[in-house]
Amino acid sequence: MDEQPVAMNRRAFIKTTGAIAAAGALGAPAIVLGGGKRVVVVGGGTGGATAARYLKLADDGLDVTLIEPNRHYYTCYMSNEVLSGERQLDDIKQGYDRLAARGIKVVHETATGIDADKQVVKTASGVYPYDRCVVSPGVSLLYDKIAGYSEALARQLPHAWKAGAQTRLLRGQLEAMQDGGVVIIATPPKPFRCPPGPYERASQIAMYLKAAKPRSKVLILDNNQTFAKQALFMQGWERLYGFGTGNSLIEWQPGPDAAVVGVDPVDMTVETSFGDTVKGAVINLIPPQAAGKIALDAGLADASGWCPVDKKTFESTRVPGVHVIGDAAIATAMPKSAYAANNQAKVAAAAIVALLNGEAPGVPSYINTCYSIIGKDYGISVAAVYRLSADGTEIAPVAGAGGLTPQDAPAFALAREVQYAYSWYNNIVHDSFG
Ligand SMILES: Cc1cc2nc3c(=O)[nH]c(=O)nc-3n(C[C@H](O)[C@H](O)[C@H](O)COP(=O)(O)OP(=O)(O)OC[C@H]3O[C@@H](n4cnc5c(N)ncnc54)[C@H](O)[C@@H]3O)c2cc1C
Repeated sequence: MDEQPVAMNRRAFIKTTGAIAAAGALGAPAIVLGGGKRVVVVGGGTGGATAARYLKLADDGLDVTLIEPNRHYYTCYMSNEVLSGERQLDDIKQGYDRLAARGIKVVHETATGIDADKQVVKTASGVYPYDRCVVSPGVSLLYDKIAGYSEALARQLPHAWKAGAQTRLLRGQLEAMQDGGVVIIATPPKPFRCPPGPYERASQIAMYLKAAKPRSKVLILDNNQTFAKQALFMQGWERLYGFGTGNSLIEWQPGPDAAVVGVDPVDMTVETSFGDTVKGAVINLIPPQAAGKIALDAGLADASGWCPVDKKTFESTRVPGVHVIGDAAIATAMPKSAYAANNQAKVAAAAIVALLNGEAPGVPSYINTCYSIIGKDYGISVAAVYRLSADGTEIAPVAGAGGLTPQDAPAFALAREVQYAYSWYNNIVHDSFG
């Protein structure tokens, strides 16, 4: 705490008492440490919302501003269930009212720049000074890596890798498709947001096809040769969708040959790196990814397109005072997941509160769990606990902690995983958005 009562000047006193009054008015516990210190959070998705909320929980005296263009956030997690019709889009819609009620200033604008020398975040209509900044902009989609694809064409051939209108569009196309059609899912090269996501999507779409259009199939054209929870997915596909038989609802073609490198929206075909031309009734192109644009523009990313950070605090190693969390960050062994973004947000918030009070940040541990729902009453998961490596450069899995759904798990255990997944969803949106 750098505003000691004995040495308090008038400005500091007003700032501190103002913060206490605000805390009192909100009925929140009067934990006021860094009174008046400003933290600006860019991006109100899972990482940013959690960071804003936990900064306020840790120190109610902080002046926290959350900059996010959208008034609602549609979670990508559980959006695959919208594609199968198991959920409605409204079921994955989150808002910012509860964060605002906590005293977080929510600004619905796009951050257009970060000036680290002046310590300000800029939007079209304002400048937001900060003592510390958190950046959680998610991913940018590199449309130009697929010949013929573009942001405009995504309104016809959806990626649905950012939930909302894209999810609705893909669901509508699945509903409109004639029975007997092929649904192409083109996966991006690693690393990308949600490593098991494309395979859960294939499963959810297969579940819908099995019930509504059983002569159709999902064709995964993969950039990669292996994928997350592969053996568990494939066992589920065998059990539920005839995978491996001539009558399978899911076909998987591994990379690198099957990687989609081009698209023709008129013929409704994609071209693979092997040179094959494949026709789809529905084409779901998930393009290669990098950190969200604002992170690239602010110089937070390295040549990989992702943002190197101090693993203890998530402070950028390139731009001091700016912490990058979530999908945009290079978090070594941690996947690009909502669970990880939420977890990293808490680590960063605790570190920021310590740093603003002139204290050394503690040594964090980290956690991630990813559920995938393969079919009705059929869920799988992977969980891991991580700790900071001795030299501080890695977020390293702790041997023996965490685990994976066992192969050949009994039906009751797989059904229970679905309930765990739903419970996790309810918990994380509450934890992030209040
Ligand atoms: C189909 C699918 C299924 C998934 N399932 C799971 C799952 O089951 N479990 C799981 O843990 N994870 C899952 N994920 C991954 C998860 O959605 C992401 O990892 C998570 O959302 C990352 O959080 P984030 O804060 O980094 O980015 P996001 O949640 O994408 O948030 C980024 C926010 O930043 C905002 N933004 C961007 N640029 C700016 C700017 N310039 N100014 C202001 N705001 C800006 C955006 O509008 C957005 O709201 C899934 C993803 C997909 C695509």
